[in-house]
Amino acid sequence: MTKPVVAILGRPNVGKSTLFNRIVGQRKAIVEDLPGTTRDRIYGEGVWQDREFSLIDTGGYELQPATDIRRRVKEQVALAIQEADVLLFVVDGQEGVVPADIETAELLRRSGKPVLLAVNKLDNPRKKTDALVFYELGIGDPVPMSAHHGQGTADLLDRMVELLPPSPPPTPGQEVMMKLAIVGRPNVGKSLLLNTLLGKERAIVSEVPGTTRDAIDTVLETVEGKVLLIDTAGIRRAGHIERGVEKYSVMRAMDAVDRCDIALLVTDVEEILPAQDTHIAGYIKKAAKSLIVVVNKWDLAPGVDRDELNAEILDRLKFFPPLPVLFVSALTGEGVDRILPAARQVYAERQKRVPTGLLNGIIKDAVASHPAPTVKGRKLKILYVTQAEVNPPTFVFFINDEKLRHFSYDRYLENKLRAAFGFMGTPLRFIFKARREE
Ligand code: GDP
Ligand code: GDP
Repeated sequence: MTKPVVAILGRPNVGKSTLFNRIVGQRKAIVEDLPGTTRDRIYGEGVWQDREFSLIDTGGYELQPATDIRRRVKEQVALAIQEADVLLFVVDGQEGVVPADIETAELLRRSGKPVLLAVNKLDNPRKKTDALVFYELGIGDPVPMSAHHGQGTADLLDRMVELLPPSPPPTPGQEVMMKLAIVGRPNVGKSLLLNTLLGKERAIVSEVPGTTRDAIDTVLETVEGKVLLIDTAGIRRAGHIERGVEKYSVMRAMDAVDRCDIALLVTDVEEILPAQDTHIAGYIKKAAKSLIVVVNKWDLAPGVDRDELNAEILDRLKFFPPLPVLFVSALTGEGVDRILPAARQVYAERQKRVPTGLLNGIIKDAVASHPAPTVKGRKLKILYVTQAEVNPPTFVFFINDEKLRHFSYDRYLENKLRAAFGFMGTPLRFIFKARREE
């Protein structure tokens, strides 16, 4: 399940974050409409030649802000060596070899881990030969590239994939399926949306019995893997729903949420997120399921400003982490083909596993720049943090005393984790365990 980890390292300003964004960029673009997603992240998911990997930008990892650059680089190198399967060492081709690069190269060589040397900022293809001087570092063939213009990155990724550890063979019968539930009030267009979605996807569709007596699930076999759509029988029986059944349908929606990874909350552009919807969203959060809001009947709102509406929706769902909002018309089909890619993106966020060293580094930094409040002369201490689970991402904090916790500080720590690692649309679970201090 865990993907191989690739760490980008090198001196400040050589172009690490530019390269990082280029590699994880295509995936990020899917949800770029969402405010708050373009902020700097240091952890992302990449895919090349069908190989998936996690990418760490050690440059975005602010160690003790006061420490000098040399020590910082050293710490980053140590971190990268500890966490990564492949080290992507970036140098500045315009500056040539500098002493810090030689020092870093020495540490990397000693680590015994596979290293790939990227010589960046060679924007002019005729300057490719400027990369040759970096043979001096003694860590193999330098790859000339320009992260800014995208030249040479394909070649770089080809070589990187060769250095990844072999992927484990798939375990038969244990295939993980992304599970989606389509929920929302009657008449918002769920059944038409489902039918439009099924019509658009070039997928094999089959129906399987759900868990309750009359529930029917739908399995979509797409080239990107299987997707389970939960309890679609109730949805596909399109048409009028009587009043008496409405309460029943809410219970049914909750049952669908319990079984899903991601809930697609469909709402009508003519009545955006009334209380009933926010209640469902609250339930989705409590169940620690991911959420995507689908604003349907977009064809009925030609004059509406998307960005404004987007902001309004996120504001109304403030209690939920930042999440994707899609604008679609089940009737015309507009936007419907963005639903599954967005769901896959969020699913990847749910499956994300943060390396322990990196996690503790981020939390340590967070505590250093904003210490926990003191209660009756005593201060909350976080001894150690580890990610115990994915789907939902669950973090265990070992602390000195449960009584010293405060929800506002929990939220602060959560925001720091999100700033570094994303977790788009996905609630995080925090578990606190008291440990006596040594
Ligand atoms: P980091 O500190 O290593 O993460 O470096 P950044 O990615 O922030 O880049 C530092 C500066 O170098 C920025 O001004 C970038 O625009 C610039 N830069 C990054 N890649 C290239 C490149 O391929 N060519 C050129 N000319 N500039 C680049
Ligand atoms: P459900 O109860 O949520 O499953 O909603 P339905 O799929 O039965 O749709 C309710 C009504 O809204 C039907 O008359 C649909 O034709 C209409 N409808 C659904 N989606 C759209 C849309 O995108 N645009 C417009 N104009 N009407 C829609």
